[in-house]
Amino acid sequence: MTETLQFSRHLSDHPASAERRGQILADPGFGNYFSDHTVVVDYKEDQAGIGGWNNARVEPYGPILMDPAAAVLHYGQEIFEGLKAYRHADGSVWTFRPEANAERFNKSAVRLALPELPDGVFVESLRELVAVDQGWIPSGDGAALYLRPFMIATEAFLGVRPAREVSYRVIASPAGNYFGGPLQPVSIWLSTTYARAGHGGTGEAKCGGNYAASLAAQLEAEAHGCKQVLFLDPTNDNAVEELGGMNIFFVFKDGTLVTPELNGNILHGVTRSSVIQLAKDRGLRIQERKITIDEWRNGVAAGEITEIFACGTAAVITPIGELKTAAGDIPSPALAGDSVSMSIRAQLLGIQTGTVEDTHGWLTRLA
Ligand SMILES: *Cc1c(COP(=O)(O)O)cnc(C)c1O
Repeated sequence: MTETLQFSRHLSDHPASAERRGQILADPGFGNYFSDHTVVVDYKEDQAGIGGWNNARVEPYGPILMDPAAAVLHYGQEIFEGLKAYRHADGSVWTFRPEANAERFNKSAVRLALPELPDGVFVESLRELVAVDQGWIPSGDGAALYLRPFMIATEAFLGVRPAREVSYRVIASPAGNYFGGPLQPVSIWLSTTYARAGHGGTGEAKCGGNYAASLAAQLEAEAHGCKQVLFLDPTNDNAVEELGGMNIFFVFKDGTLVTPELNGNILHGVTRSSVIQLAKDRGLRIQERKITIDEWRNGVAAGEITEIFACGTAAVITPIGELKTAAGDIPSPALAGDSVSMSIRAQLLGIQTGTVEDTHGWLTRLA
């Protein structure tokens, strides 16, 4: 489906002052502040059930006026994406593999019975927002403007069926280090009470419902002093799946990288796929396969597993330390000085921020 949409621009009468913006950009944290504008595109089906996207616009950031019966508020018909805009030294603004996010967004749309975006609209919407809000891109190690495209069912109707009125939106949030403070290994709580996804469910879709389902486990994690949760597939020898919002990798002593295979429950991370490519470029062996909690426990104890890390757009690559479980903790592998994970992290960030050559053509210019 190709369809060209012309975006109109309605600029904010009350953008943040340069002083206020400067204060925010000095220490943005993650997800705390939002830029001055938002992108909106509406979708509606006509009497004959033919849908179309229209009224593409940039407008001032602000609350959404929505009917209390809007389907998203009752049945959670929602999907989202997350990617970042980086400012390079020459002032240009780039993003990383946005076609992959656009493709995943449309796959998520199909799974949640939402309409797909026409080709090109996803990337164009990012350009439109960055064109007016590029002053919100922070600088510093790992800092970027986090872009959050999302789609919601806005039709006011309480019967259960796919909504015929939908809204696509993009907001932007300046982002520093996801976990706050200097990069250090995070401890992880192993959830055995809850799952985030099941076979045939929505694990592969990037939808709000998966996150809602992960929050009780997240509370459990916090009660045990952990920042993140690891989910397993209890029907498959306790195979490791992923964290609430990040994929997971294991580095073995012989240099092999192991990550759980995409089994239908796991999100197809763009960072995951990029890490696999960069590791292959280095001649490292990659295995996408089942890895169980027992293998983790034994591998760390025997010194076979030397590093474990989580990856995703928000947190880039973050080393995992201890795994706390109800049945006893698995200690952190002794962290080597010249770790594979930190080296790949530096390369990935270097490509994204323009200091390392982009040999795979992963960057797209936004401004
Ligand atoms: C977004 C997300 C990831 C990471 O995907 P990236 O494309 O690398 O940002 C991993 N797991 C889940 C559940 C996610 O929602």
